[in-house]
Amino acid sequence: MRAVQLVAEGKSPVLGDAQVRPPKADEVLVKVGSVYVGTRERSSVSGNRANYWPDRPKPGLPIILGYQAGGTVIQAGADSPIKEGSRVFVNGFVDCGKCDACMDGQQNLCPHHSLLGIDVDGCLAEQVTLPWRCVFPVPDSIPMKLIPAVSEVSTALHGFRCAGSVAGRSVAVIGGGDIGATAAKLAKLFGAKPVVVVEPAEEPRARLKRILPDIEILPSAKGLKPEFDFAMEASNVASGIEDSIACLRRNGKAIIFSALGETTLRFKALYSEWHTREIQIIASNAKTPVDVRDSIDLLAKHAELRAAFDLESVAMEGAAQVIADFAAYKRRVPVCVFPAGQTEK
Ligand SMILES: [Zn+2]
Repeated sequence: MRAVQLVAEGKSPVLGDAQVRPPKADEVLVKVGSVYVGTRERSSVSGNRANYWPDRPKPGLPIILGYQAGGTVIQAGADSPIKEGSRVFVNGFVDCGKCDACMDGQQNLCPHHSLLGIDVDGCLAEQVTLPWRCVFPVPDSIPMKLIPAVSEVSTALHGFRCAGSVAGRSVAVIGGGDIGATAAKLAKLFGAKPVVVVEPAEEPRARLKRILPDIEILPSAKGLKPEFDFAMEASNVASGIEDSIACLRRNGKAIIFSALGETTLRFKALYSEWHTREIQIIASNAKTPVDVRDSIDLLAKHAELRAAFDLESVAMEGAAQVIADFAAYKRRVPVCVFPAGQTEK
């Protein structure tokens, strides 16, 4: 079958041939229908894992890229409750299902998890064999192009659950990439008021203005007064964490999505801003299966949330170039990859 693989760090990925294996008892074989590519692939290609995953061993190469996907189960192992013919979301965060964290319902904190396309072969292929635990049935009302968006929605939703209710409260979103844009949309949906997004880069800012017409978009956090109840930090840069803390009122909550590896934060300089106002700094990591199922429901119910994922599409033949453009920072907005020869569905 055809697949987009990373064959050497620092080099553009290539479309080539790869093997697919039949599913074991606890696995399913998925025919891939759509994949989002973006910042995760940039990190894989650059080989600079310290910024994102300092503790992860490097994968053997070649590795098939692709973290989040939609598809259809075409073969199911004997123990899989998800059967052939099911349309599914593929969650790139694969937990073990057995450890203490998993048994506590905190699968997002499973120390034995692996990431598709980063630690093990991913979804940028015609077919992929996966544990059934990382696929989730999706209703027909969510088109194939939107199924990978469940990843962003559930990651953002997990952050809101760490924060508590935002209804009637003010929310500043720092960083308007894929998670930040989704967090802003969810904040609106959950009744937050006002919602402001800070995004310094021009291309994502133009997209934000298109998909979030009723939300104020700012190029810098400099003008924000320390009066927000919540700051959702999704910038992937250290200054974004600092900006999040600085814009909060007394007892405000900063929800930190970014996993910044070896970055050093200026906590000394922030001390007077942080400690004297009893700011709560809360980490939000990935999502649980409950977050994923609830996000599928949210996407099915809310057209305005689906509209936030009006992404450019390419066929698989164009995916390697898109990822190379991401690695070179020529692109900053995710792209939806369809199967070979197909650009819309
Ligand atoms: Zn586990």
